Amino acid sequence: MTDLLFKKLVSTLSSLPGIGKKSAYRLGFHILRMDATAFSNFIESIESVKSNLKFCKKCAGITEFEICEICTGESRLKNILCVVELPEDIFFIENTGEYKGKYHVLNGVISPLDGIGPENLRIKELLERLKDEPVEEVLLATNPTLEGDATASYLFNLLRATGIKLTRIAHGVTVGSTLEYADQYTLGKAIKSRLTI
Ligand SMILES: [Zn+2]
Repeated sequence: MTDLLFKKLVSTLSSLPGIGKKSAYRLGFHILRMDATAFSNFIESIESVKSNLKFCKKCAGITEFEICEICTGESRLKNILCVVELPEDIFFIENTGEYKGKYHVLNGVISPLDGIGPENLRIKELLERLKDEPVEEVLLATNPTLEGDATASYLFNLLRATGIKLTRIAHGVTVGSTLEYADQYTLGKAIKSRLTI
């Protein structure tokens, strides 16, 4: 029975992204060995994220409020909007320290094989923001993968008539890779040396 309980924990842990069977066992043992305080802090931080964090009504990044601190932040540039696939991409770009504008999360990429078309992404919301906000440049920062590139060129075709400057991160980020795996320096450079498309 004890063994079954442990196997259940391991299988739960290995359902997390990037966690293989071996890591799941290692984490399971680590949890088992945690003292009471460390364990309750661990559980509390997970619970608090689940009950307090939500997705920003404007950009779809994560926040404790209705609208996130980047969207409301006075020090952020209002004239540049960086379009990313997922909320986690905001973290990777923020870590570079090279970007001071605002964000817009699409919540995915166009992927016909997975049945995901433009209508499944937050593109309508993007168009609304471009009408309401003083955006002069849209930086298309979807991943340099097949789907990411296809989504960027879809948006390029959709937005080229608006007269807004359209740029794309390119330089340095390995083709086929994702923002998550680009190191901070490379991603920082890619944002600085973005290309007009
Ligand atoms: Zn926001």
